[in-house]
Amino acid sequence: MTTPSQPNRIYRLALPVPLYRLFDYLIDDSIPLTQPGARIEVPFGKTVQVGILIEIATESEVKLDKLKPILRVLDHPPLLSKVDLELLHWVSRYYHYPLGEVMSLAFPKLLRDPALSTDYAEPHYQLTEAGLNLALSTLTRSRKQHAVIAFLQQHAHAVNAATLLRHTQTTPALIKQLIAKEWLVRVPPVEAQPLLSQQVLKSPILSANAEQQAAISAVSEQLGRFSVFLLEGVTGSGKTEVYMQIIQQALIQALQVLVLVPEISLTPQLEQRFRQRFNVAIAVSHSKLTDKQRGLAWLSIQQGHSQILLGTRSALFTPLKWPGLIILDEEHDVSFKQQDGLRFSARDVAVMRAKLLNIPVVLGSATPSLESLHNAFNRRYQHLQLPQRAGLAITPEMVLLDIRNKKVEQGLSQRLCEEINTTLAKREQVLLFINRRGFAPRLICHSCGWVARCKHCDANLVVHKREQALRCHHCGSRYQPVNTCPVCNAQELVPLGLGTERIEQLLTQYFPNHNIARIDQDSVQRKGALTLYLQQIQQQHIDIILGTQLLAKGHHFENVTLVALLDVDSGLFSIDFHAAERLAQLIVQVSGRAGRAEKPGKVILQTRHPEHPLLTTLLSQGYAEFARMALAERASAQLPPYSYQALLRVEANEQDKAEQFLQRIIDSAQQCAVNDVSVLGPVPAPMPRRIGFYHYQLLLQSANRTHLHFLINHLIKEINQIKASKKLRWSLDVDPIDLF
Ligand code: ADP
Ligand code: ZN
Ligand code: ZN
Repeated sequence: MTTPSQPNRIYRLALPVPLYRLFDYLIDDSIPLTQPGARIEVPFGKTVQVGILIEIATESEVKLDKLKPILRVLDHPPLLSKVDLELLHWVSRYYHYPLGEVMSLAFPKLLRDPALSTDYAEPHYQLTEAGLNLALSTLTRSRKQHAVIAFLQQHAHAVNAATLLRHTQTTPALIKQLIAKEWLVRVPPVEAQPLLSQQVLKSPILSANAEQQAAISAVSEQLGRFSVFLLEGVTGSGKTEVYMQIIQQALIQALQVLVLVPEISLTPQLEQRFRQRFNVAIAVSHSKLTDKQRGLAWLSIQQGHSQILLGTRSALFTPLKWPGLIILDEEHDVSFKQQDGLRFSARDVAVMRAKLLNIPVVLGSATPSLESLHNAFNRRYQHLQLPQRAGLAITPEMVLLDIRNKKVEQGLSQRLCEEINTTLAKREQVLLFINRRGFAPRLICHSCGWVARCKHCDANLVVHKREQALRCHHCGSRYQPVNTCPVCNAQELVPLGLGTERIEQLLTQYFPNHNIARIDQDSVQRKGALTLYLQQIQQQHIDIILGTQLLAKGHHFENVTLVALLDVDSGLFSIDFHAAERLAQLIVQVSGRAGRAEKPGKVILQTRHPEHPLLTTLLSQGYAEFARMALAERASAQLPPYSYQALLRVEANEQDKAEQFLQRIIDSAQQCAVNDVSVLGPVPAPMPRRIGFYHYQLLLQSANRTHLHFLINHLIKEINQIKASKKLRWSLDVDPIDLF
């Protein structure tokens, strides 16, 4: 034990457990001290956990002889920098989420698992003297060996495995062979060096138009300083080109760039464009990769072996060795908000990260979120605009098609069918959009009105014809098809409403000589299916594309000149105040798929409410004007961004339990000395019963963010004391994006 002359050495750790506290461990004198941010392996109950060192202390609230010693220090020096830690502390405070769990999310699984955490350093390879002097002409019989040796002979340094694999299509077995021949050796990884400027570009840049140039200059001038830019540019206006030219400036200064996109389906396209343009190592990270691949991407950025990281929301926390710039494309996209566990907004955290790192962040979109526009109007963000399409493309014509009193055969009006025919006759492609998969959203009894419902949820079952089943889209339950009404025994059960399958059936009847592709969650289940569809569309083997929101963004379809939204009305009258913004964004994004190349495009919106102000404003005056109107409405109703919200959700197996729990929270809120936070509820969630559980919620709202968070802190302490809280599930959603 310690002697009086020697202070205690205590490591205070964040552990990945759902508790709002840190844990103290002893470290004995034989272990050299490391810094906060290092991963430490410790015993925890009967398990071994990987914790993160938060601080080194000399005193503990726990008696010293009760403290356990650590097992191992995993990192010298720590993998997280001081600023990385600062950000995670902020995230934990802002989202009121346990620090240990926040910390653990910052690491890829590869580095969180004690069993995997030792040998993570990427192997590097270098030629031996013999390999260096090997005459390539002697390798003519082995093309693969030739490629590896030739590549390495051009490189003075050791090269990591990933680079070798990328440039030579070698295999681990081949590397083994070369090592056996003593031409190659495995060496420890080299300290990464910042990249030299002349190496950055692979292909020439496009010459930017005036607006693009203004945006490029504005951001480039701020490299090395914190600044938020909102880059608003219609689809096809050349935002990606702007990103690439700004990235180029950062790379020239030997800085790394983090690029976040909302969805995995968008990464291959962007990745390809980046790889064509830049002569630097590009790391990619998203949830469809293996744990190993993600871990290696994380490390290659953290250690400086890659210059660009392209990823989805979860890549946000990757430590940058030379932080230069953060870009968030499609910043309005709801996928940037995590909807379970730590419910963080990657957009908001990216802005905070840029602030702490003192670097610029660019938020790009054709349809910026109302929050970001509000910040731009307030001059907190710098507003950069690209009002025109770049190159030759022309802005599409948008038409409201009034389908009141028109014969609408299962969602396709006669006028729309004529337009489709005209487009097909010109050998151009058509994109039809409806955001509902399956055959029909309801199965109803014609004689008594009974509707098929899920046993576990307050939801109607969706008819899936191809699969011959009824399915609940909320819990995934599958039911056998029903032919007889369980209430009145009638045999007349009719599918009501429209889904993609039903429209596909109709299209096959109407356009029998054309190829139709239905693209929704069901049809792209198989791995690689989506890629195949996209290829077929690109090669024009498909004439009519029918899709859900899977298709709403990102993809370039050069030959699509007619886009139709079959049903915009379902979004017009929602109880959630976010719905109008979402619908407007969807309409604009889907429209952006039309007429991307030289051919002019047309967009048709089928509606029974052609006078609705959302539609008329959007079509006659554009998204910017819609946004101004929507913000004015939010201001007068004191809704975000003019106030701040947090939603406390609970679910329990009995209705009463959930309600009583929230009632206690309300009582506790009333004792707390803040009077400008309104507490609304408890109310049942819009769909109260889901997967057998009852969902209730409490909405906290205030114009004063500090007071709101003060109250939340108070409530979380209370929750942790309520015994009943263990019998139900609760979660807190700061800045919720829906009230579901
Ligand atoms: P966005 O990201 O805004 O949708 P892109 O950057 O993908 O726009 O640009 C749309 C198309 O216009 C692309 O084919 C791109 O190569 C082209 N483009 C972009 N900027 C220019 C420019 N300055 N000159 C010519 N073509 C451009
Ligand atoms: Zn019936
Ligand atoms: Zn269900």
